[in-house]
Amino acid sequence: MDRLAAVSVDLDTLPHYFRIQGLDERQVDAQARALVSKVAIDRYLELFDGRPATFFAIGEDLADPQMGAGLRAAHRAKVEIASHSFSHDYGLSRLRPARIAEDLRAAHEAIFTAVGVAPVGFRAPGYTLSPALLQAVAALGYAYDSSTFPATPYYSAKALVMGALKVLGRPSRAVLDTPRVLFAPRVPYRPDPLAPYSLGKARLLELPVSVAPRTRLPFIGTLVTRLPWPVVKATYRALAQDRLINFELHAIDVLDESDGVPAVLARQQRDLKVPVREKLKRLKEVFGWLWSDGEPVTLAEASKRLAPAL
Ligand SMILES: [Zn+2]
Repeated sequence: MDRLAAVSVDLDTLPHYFRIQGLDERQVDAQARALVSKVAIDRYLELFDGRPATFFAIGEDLADPQMGAGLRAAHRAKVEIASHSFSHDYGLSRLRPARIAEDLRAAHEAIFTAVGVAPVGFRAPGYTLSPALLQAVAALGYAYDSSTFPATPYYSAKALVMGALKVLGRPSRAVLDTPRVLFAPRVPYRPDPLAPYSLGKARLLELPVSVAPRTRLPFIGTLVTRLPWPVVKATYRALAQDRLINFELHAIDVLDESDGVPAVLARQQRDLKVPVREKLKRLKEVFGWLWSDGEPVTLAEASKRLAPAL
């Protein structure tokens, strides 16, 4: 089996975490706002060392000129720049179709203007799809969507945290997906435009974020940087039969509190307490596994290779 190893990073900047945690984003100072564009992108490019990977950029964050410069540097280093929506609205999937199309088009244009290359892939904020959202992605002519995240532990944890925040009177702006996502395929498929988590005949491919069979434990950055090492190894081994590994990370997986993350956020987002040196060491090790067991590819390239057989 010629295995494909796709590493992708959602470049969510800190204000988006304040929103999802129900915190006031005006507490994010200029230095903290620039941590992703100035620090995280460089750390990832160093880890990739010229290998292809994918960044999912948020259109709105391109108001910071440093973000545009970071994405151009990434593009020169063979990193694909895909769309992670314009406003990163966690309720995007529930908006009217015209509003969804407007948001996606704005993101598309912002990325094209900044990088000079049009994106061909999309990942939804909060991994939440709807028929209207998937159809809007398809209408842009994209080759793939990579939002499906059929992870049971993630789904239950998210439901729990959202419930707790509500009890605390600090409702989160996140949106809980339909439980149908838990029955979505774990491996690449052609979705049904009317039911994105089911098999269908769409022209674009759905490339789910990798989760282990049976346990449905997600093989993502937070698992790699936070869970005991034997769990990381076992989760990776469980994916041995998959043609594509779609390893999803976030920009904050290479940041920690000492980089200047506001303490109020680090208290809520516990992975920011893990020292960055430890995180980088673990990620380097895992990237090493991926790239020795498979060919490093962008998600765009993965969709091209997989499409004929699906
Ligand atoms: Zn995001």
